[in-house]
Amino acid sequence: MVAELTHFIDGAHVKGTSGRFADVYNPATGEVQARVPLAGQDEMDAAVASAKAAQPGWAATNPQRRARVIMEFVRLLHRDMDKLATALSREHGKTVPDARGDVVRGLEVAEFCIGAPHLLKGEFNEGAGPGIDLYSIRQPVGVAAGITPFNFPAMIPMWKFCPAIACGNAFILKPSERDPSVPLMLAELMIEAGLPKGVLNVVNGDKGAVDAILDHKDIGAVGFVGSTPIAQYVYGRGTASGKRVQCFGGAKNHLIVMPDADMDQVVDALAGAGYGAAGERCMAISVAVPVGEETADRLIEKLAPRVESMKIAPYTDGDDADFGPLVTAEAKKRVLGLIDRGVEEGAKLVVDGRGFKMQGYENGFFVGGCLFDNVTPDMDIYKTEIFGPVLSTVRADSYETALKLATDNEYGNGVAIYTRDGDTARDFVSRVEVGMVGVNVPIPVPLAYYTFGGWKKSAFGDLNQYGPDAFRFYTRTKTVTSRWPSGVKEGAEFHFPS
Ligand code: NAD
Repeated sequence: MVAELTHFIDGAHVKGTSGRFADVYNPATGEVQARVPLAGQDEMDAAVASAKAAQPGWAATNPQRRARVIMEFVRLLHRDMDKLATALSREHGKTVPDARGDVVRGLEVAEFCIGAPHLLKGEFNEGAGPGIDLYSIRQPVGVAAGITPFNFPAMIPMWKFCPAIACGNAFILKPSERDPSVPLMLAELMIEAGLPKGVLNVVNGDKGAVDAILDHKDIGAVGFVGSTPIAQYVYGRGTASGKRVQCFGGAKNHLIVMPDADMDQVVDALAGAGYGAAGERCMAISVAVPVGEETADRLIEKLAPRVESMKIAPYTDGDDADFGPLVTAEAKKRVLGLIDRGVEEGAKLVVDGRGFKMQGYENGFFVGGCLFDNVTPDMDIYKTEIFGPVLSTVRADSYETALKLATDNEYGNGVAIYTRDGDTARDFVSRVEVGMVGVNVPIPVPLAYYTFGGWKKSAFGDLNQYGPDAFRFYTRTKTVTSRWPSGVKEGAEFHFPS
């Protein structure tokens, strides 16, 4: 019996009414384990109406009380960590320790949002003119929405709804239809933490639900995370209907290996950042760029056996697996197609994981780790975000060539350099055109009190997600110029002025 999932509207689970559903798989076994309803306009309208009704009361709740709800939510996340991580792994396929990381990286943003009273402080200038005070206040946008991808079904929804709600907005979350269970569990926990019903609604769906958000007159702000073509579409349609919109897209993250780098550290970094979560991370390293032939030869010699010996397993197989299956059969087919294309294009497939099969899980969406050498920038496998356990090696003849490669790439999410030379690292940080840079750190995801966002085709809009930027995105600034005429304090006049 396949479970039927729901929406979460006005504080309660609500069955889908559009008659449309999508299958939710267990990627390890390949079985359909649930059906998720795909909302139509009516369901979106109901959620937005609930949010709109709840929002003024929530905005009028003082920020410290709002923060206390988030504080309690953090406690509940810790309480339910294992339950959330297991549910997440069962739908996404990533290992359970990695799923815990998914929850924790969202939880850290919730912790940051507990500082809402401080973060929402305005500005004040006394005596900006004669008797004039000038000040600004931050007010919630009203109803905000978040559209999130499959690859971090706990973290990214929390990156969206925690700051929005802390600012006094009501929120509509449209999670990925591939792994919708954890977002529903998060909404339940927010209600248990004391959030009034209607302030957080989860509406499941696909393009239809997204378009209903983008065109909805009562939604003032939209945060999106997903692939670049959809990010660009959402940005265009959302801003055209007058909303503030921020969209974070795909990536092609490079790791530059200088000749002086510690090769053991580099191999560890590439193993984890290239193949963790089967490469389904927007901050995964998908391109290794060794500088110089000798560096490249040493890298391949050490990395190839490491990739060959990775432990690939279903999430139920204990905590020591390196990575699990891809999310769907379609994702597996796409990744295998790109690997075939790389071979056709003339790249050297040093480790070939295409034939990987796991006993007892023959229908799972597993792909073994693949390592390409001699990839060139004109090849499709270089230009396309593969989003699988596939690392491409592009050999660079100099530091300048490596720097130019990362800078010229159309994506600009993350990048890393491995070197022992401070001058090289400093030059790289200064000149590379990428939003998040790691120096001897492979996945430079900033902590919750900074902000996250790429450059170029990795992001559309002008503010980053989480951190102080999120408090700007989910609030509108009102600036007040106030003058109080003098005289009242001098008291009443009892005589006609003469
Ligand atoms: P996706 O673009 O397929 O889906 C993202 C969201 O958009 C989902 O909620 C989906 O339902 C919706 N959607 C899909 N097709 C749509 C359409 N035609 N019209 C309107 N909405 C549509 O992305 P995904 O496969 O779920 O996630 C992987 C992608 O997300 C990768 O490209 C990855 O790099 C990117 N990502 C980026 C970041 C970041 O912060 N930059 C973080 C995580 C993932």
